[in-house]
Amino acid sequence: MTPARAEAGKNIKNAAELWYNNTIVNQRGYMKHLLTKVNCKNSDEKQKALVELQNVCSQCRACDLCKTRTSTVFSDGKADAPVMLIGEAPGPEEDIAGKPFVGRAGQLLNTFLSDAGLSRENDIYICNTIKCHTPQNRIPSNAERRACQVYLFGQISIIRPKIILLCGSAALQTFVDDDVKISDIRGKWLNIFDDTEVMAISHPAYLLRQHSTEANTPRWFMKKDLEKVKNMLQSI
Ligand code: SF4
Repeated sequence: MTPARAEAGKNIKNAAELWYNNTIVNQRGYMKHLLTKVNCKNSDEKQKALVELQNVCSQCRACDLCKTRTSTVFSDGKADAPVMLIGEAPGPEEDIAGKPFVGRAGQLLNTFLSDAGLSRENDIYICNTIKCHTPQNRIPSNAERRACQVYLFGQISIIRPKIILLCGSAALQTFVDDDVKISDIRGKWLNIFDDTEVMAISHPAYLLRQHSTEANTPRWFMKKDLEKVKNMLQSI
């Protein structure tokens, strides 16, 4: 497996610089400014930098999704959370609430997290690959994901989480080649950043359609994957 999109930046600051170089022109000024802020020393500094980034994001018109959104959906969780969970795109409930993972899939995620001994409030910072709802819940295009990466990589650069969870294929494919299948690498620790453990996990929207909890079923794998996350968190 070649995590080609991230391999030039083996640590998070380098990755942010790499994305800055690839960022579309009207976002560059802000990203350059942001890169001066990636060495936040404490949670107050992180929180301040995130609020600043969120304010810019809320005005963003860098792709056509700005025309159909109700609100930008930036994040939920504490700036000093050790785990960052990255989903795909806001759904209709999230578009209205302005918060990620608040619908049925979010409720299922909360159950899996608490069953694994993880606290959504204290351990997890949640965001999405793109910050605006896509019409009819379609998969975000590559151009939309590229336009929005400035915010995602800004969030990663400011928070510098110990663990990143890539939740579903769209989140995974932001970091690895398109032909890497989530079914092949789900639950494995991925060598994407030197300074952060990364794992792909199933998206809870997919698990809503999978009801069995027997061994080797998708819900069983999700439980085992999150137990690995809990163990890793206790060991680092
Ligand atoms: S999806 Fe991202 S890049 Fe597109 S308008 Fe929304 S915030 Fe901007």
